Amino acid sequence: DLTNPELESESELAFEGALRPRSLGEFVGQTKVRGQLQLLLTAATMQQRTPDHILLAGPPGLGKTTLAMIVAHEAGRPLRMSSGPAIQHAGDLAAVLSSLVPGEVLFIDEIHRMARSAEEMLYLAMEDFRIDIMVGKGAGATSVPLDLAPFTLVGATTRSGLLPNPLRDRFGFTAHLEFYADSELEQVLERAARLLDLRIDRDAIAEIAGRCRGTPRIANRLLRRVRDYTLVHGRPTDGSEMARADVASVRAALDLYEVDSLGLDRLDRQVMTTMLERFGGGPVGLNTLAVSVGEEAETIEAVVEPFLVRIGLITRTPRGRMATPEGWRHFGLRQPGVGLT
Ligand code: ATP
Repeated sequence: DLTNPELESESELAFEGALRPRSLGEFVGQTKVRGQLQLLLTAATMQQRTPDHILLAGPPGLGKTTLAMIVAHEAGRPLRMSSGPAIQHAGDLAAVLSSLVPGEVLFIDEIHRMARSAEEMLYLAMEDFRIDIMVGKGAGATSVPLDLAPFTLVGATTRSGLLPNPLRDRFGFTAHLEFYADSELEQVLERAARLLDLRIDRDAIAEIAGRCRGTPRIANRLLRRVRDYTLVHGRPTDGSEMARADVASVRAALDLYEVDSLGLDRLDRQVMTTMLERFGGGPVGLNTLAVSVGEEAETIEAVVEPFLVRIGLITRTPRGRMATPEGWRHFGLRQPGVGLT
């Protein structure tokens, strides 16, 4: 699915690796967060200590993993990658923590999905660089304290609200990543086109930027499909191997993959039409909506809704989600009771 902001496959992982900015200077946009991180890292370097723990919060595909890698790189420290779903027992976390080298940066993606028991172990580890390991079972079980090497935890979550307060409070700093402005996405795309050796018109770049939901991962993915399209259908001129991508090829490529002019994909459209046609534009509750479109409520809440709210097609009210007049208009539908005399 072209506009799913989650990572889709192994081949995409390799492709992203090639396009990933390596330093804060190369990282486009998120000016506030970049400044905050820069200060935190510089201060830690000056005092020769491990940087404070950092929580990166924001929708998928905005650069959390990239920033974690940059933090390690800028601090000149090794990076260990893990994820919440991979930590299903306290023992899984103990194994990772006890094997960290001094100063290592530990990245835990989707940290809100970690097991409860591991969460509690993490509190102590973050605060005192220490854990208690349970040895033995039943009545004879004892806890043995274990000192850890100092480390920096970088946690990523799509919803910081899903984290228990004690965990959230133990981060020295929470970076809230925002969706990217079109001009920033154009910079991301120009950089990627350069790295991919794709020649592309400026207005073609702008056309892609307008359809990628403020998300660099989607921008890069759409660019890849445009590159395919240009390779197959474009007419190379001036003896080059590959044609130059233009607006027409962007439109044709993205129409083929059902990404509309606002960047809405099939699931967005399904959520919108369900809300408009079945629930009269709402208000409708998140769970009801999720069940109606056969999708998990978490996906609707973390992925679909923030985008639809951001581009003004729906609003959140205390009684549920509601379509805006713009939402009705984008789907060419008449809002009941409006515009009738
Ligand atoms: P997830 O939460 O799904 O893991 P993420 O927020 O960690 O997503 P990343 O994997 O860091 O997202 O970024 C996805 C891709 O987008 C990367 O390959 C990277 O090339 C690109 N990207 C993200 N942010 C930027 C940026 N600020 N500048 C340039 N490229 C970026």
